[in-house]
Amino acid sequence: MSPNAINKFMNIFDVIIIGAGASGLMATSECVTAGRRTLVLDMGDAPARKVRISGGGRCNITNMAASRNRYFGINPDFVRGILARVSPSDILAWADQHNLAPRESSPGRFFCDAGAAAVVDALWQDAQKAKFIFNTMVVSVSRSDDLFTVTTARGNFTGRCLIVATGGVSYANLGVSDLGYKIAKQFGHKIIPVRPGLGAIITPVMDPELAGISLNVAISVAQYVITDAMLMTHNGIGGPAAYRASLHDLGDGIRINFCPGTDIRAHITTARQQNGRRSVSTWLGTIIPARLARWIAGPYADVRIADLSTIQIKDIVDRIENFTITGDQLNRGSFATAEVTYGGIDTQDISPRTLESKRCPGLFFAGEVLDITGDLGGFNLQWAWATGRIAGQSATDYTIG
Ligand SMILES: Cc1cc2nc3c(=O)[nH]c(=O)nc-3n(C[C@H](O)[C@H](O)[C@H](O)COP(=O)(O)OP(=O)(O)OC[C@H]3O[C@@H](n4cnc5c(N)ncnc54)[C@H](O)[C@@H]3O)c2cc1C
Repeated sequence: MSPNAINKFMNIFDVIIIGAGASGLMATSECVTAGRRTLVLDMGDAPARKVRISGGGRCNITNMAASRNRYFGINPDFVRGILARVSPSDILAWADQHNLAPRESSPGRFFCDAGAAAVVDALWQDAQKAKFIFNTMVVSVSRSDDLFTVTTARGNFTGRCLIVATGGVSYANLGVSDLGYKIAKQFGHKIIPVRPGLGAIITPVMDPELAGISLNVAISVAQYVITDAMLMTHNGIGGPAAYRASLHDLGDGIRINFCPGTDIRAHITTARQQNGRRSVSTWLGTIIPARLARWIAGPYADVRIADLSTIQIKDIVDRIENFTITGDQLNRGSFATAEVTYGGIDTQDISPRTLESKRCPGLFFAGEVLDITGDLGGFNLQWAWATGRIAGQSATDYTIG
């Protein structure tokens, strides 16, 4: 009997994939296309549940700007080779093949006009030849005689190699687990502490009365300057600018420029010459929403701009261009609402070529479970697609013969 026939006889799968999410399904497609006996286990009741709700139902499938500087973690260089092998263009080609109608809604950023549900259908179609078991939580994994045994409430399953594609621990109402981190730890990998990423920021500094106001700002956080739309919320700030800022270390506080691209000092000088009788809040209300203008102007709100002293002008310019919130006044939102998980399995003991563990042959990792977090804008799915495809190809190679 050939080794393949023996495996079949003993009910040994070539590849077991834990997680039928974005990366797990991409990996599955590679394995089944190469004819590997593939088992996919998922604790949820349907495939790719996060993809289904991604991009507000339109799935922001990728971003042409995907490169090292849009990814964060201890070692963002890890992404280089992976994105070179499975690029955004490759994903757009896949989307075209499946008639997902990807459309560039802002420079480089692609959403699917066919909708996120169609993306899930496409992934599902490609993975059809695998055996899927849903509503099945994997509780542990062991390895002996070069085989992996995966334990679930529905029994044990054995495979020649294992792909861990369990995602992060954010958006917990969809059902998430930290199993991926536990498996990695068990085989000697280091875990970078996790925290919520791409979520709102809570601060008592903002007035709840401002909730609902949205405007373009520049937020300085750590060594980054993020220019994007910000939404005032009932307990802090949200919207793309705040979400993106939440990826970074908030310990040293943030600075908000409410009027990026406008030289406020020059603007005041001109305004004083043209009509100095206007109050600070009226003048500022010509540049940003009136309610916000009054709040930022603070003690100067009703002062005529012509009456402002040099020191007061400096203070106002600072309040508008350099509004500072200290670290102790900032809190991340919870894992419950954050879109992604920052941190995860340290990439140092994982091959960037194959995504195989350097500590355990036949063990592969893909997707958000790794300590790589993408920026807002399609970068996280690009990461999931790319790592899923590569892990699937590597598992296929691993199980030749
Ligand atoms: C609301 C929302 C919108 C988003 N929109 C976008 C977007 O438009 N563009 C973008 O790039 N990114 C977006 N993201 C992020 C993106 O969806 C994720 O980064 C991506 O899905 C991660 O893929 P993954 O395969 O690593 O994990 P997941 O897709 O989360 O899949 C992990 C799978 O593993 C399963 N699992 C976990 N533990 C176990 C266990 N113990 N046993 C069995 N199964 C298990 C889970 O049930 C899940 O199906 C969004 C995220 C959210 C929450």
